[in-house]
Amino acid sequence: MKKGKKRLYIHIPFCIKRCNYCGFVSSVLKDKRELSNYIDYLSLEFELYKDRLKDNIITIYIGGGTPSLFEPYEIYTLGELLFKYLSLPGEFTIEANPESITRDKVLAWRDIGVNRVSLGVQSFDDEVLSFLGRPHTAGDAVDAISILKDYFDNISFDFIYGIPNQDMSIWHKTLKRAIAFGPQHLSLYALSIENGTTFCKWYKRGKIHMMDEDLVVDMYEFGVHFLKENGYKRYEISNFSFPGKESIHNMGYWTYDEYLGLGVSASSFVEGIRYINYSSMTDYFKSLKNGAYPIAYSEKLSKEKMMGEYIILRLRTNRGLLIDEFIDIFGIDPLSIYKDKFAYFIDLGFMEHTEYGYRLTDKGILVSNQIFVEII
Ligand code: SF4
Repeated sequence: MKKGKKRLYIHIPFCIKRCNYCGFVSSVLKDKRELSNYIDYLSLEFELYKDRLKDNIITIYIGGGTPSLFEPYEIYTLGELLFKYLSLPGEFTIEANPESITRDKVLAWRDIGVNRVSLGVQSFDDEVLSFLGRPHTAGDAVDAISILKDYFDNISFDFIYGIPNQDMSIWHKTLKRAIAFGPQHLSLYALSIENGTTFCKWYKRGKIHMMDEDLVVDMYEFGVHFLKENGYKRYEISNFSFPGKESIHNMGYWTYDEYLGLGVSASSFVEGIRYINYSSMTDYFKSLKNGAYPIAYSEKLSKEKMMGEYIILRLRTNRGLLIDEFIDIFGIDPLSIYKDKFAYFIDLGFMEHTEYGYRLTDKGILVSNQIFVEII
């Protein structure tokens, strides 16, 4: 990994309701006081990490869950907490969901230094949203976007495709509607059925069926071409932006930078060690009350594992694998290990040479998961 400046991720594990497909760690907010209480515990965790935070953080990302559930006074408290320990970074993102956005909250985000908002739109079709179990309608998303655009010039929308019952025309309409708002960034994710979700239950009972794989690929390819025609560049398999509006925070993950994750279930990657916090709120609170790091699991990654992870993450990006960077980090030429595999993928048309190394071709991106399995 690249040592030095770090990315900071803060997890807010509360939502209004659980979406039918969601595999993230979050629970339904039962009492509004849970939010302030959670900030109190976050402050204990910040104190434990204070030496690692000072002058060392280049991006902040508040994700979840639904961070837009915080009321303005809670946002200011969170802002005070953050800037007790660190200085304002270049990029400061908050994730938000349409149903919980108000003008007062958005103003408070801007006041504490947020300069990028990632909005979970997911679809502009009400039937699709209802099938996904989202707590908002397309109209809520439109209202939220109109507020956000008054205060931010760096907004990202998330969308899901490959949803049972979502046909190609619905997907076209959603993307056309999305770009009409001129977001600087879009993320397109294929639906996957995660264990423990409502969709998983429905799938096992035969109530829903996965979309035909060819149609999922067609939807992705339509998205790539349509966004390209409209000025968006794909800089990572699922992420598209106007030039210069790539997510600096998320790029850090794909370029194998160190990061620190605070909050329930957050993970960190520092000095070759991966740490994962407790995903149970009770365990997380208990640990912090006792003055201990709320870490449930840690693993010192072997050099081989890090090299494999680095290649996979790098190949997700448009720039691909950079040979010199690999040598700088690991002190070894990647071709001494992966030359035959790369040659095999180049023969199949899945990989190509770049000026600095290798990257996946359009054809390779469509089978990237199989390629990554082969590499490790
Ligand atoms: S809003 Fe996001 S985190 Fe919350 S349940 Fe839905 S998908 Fe999961």
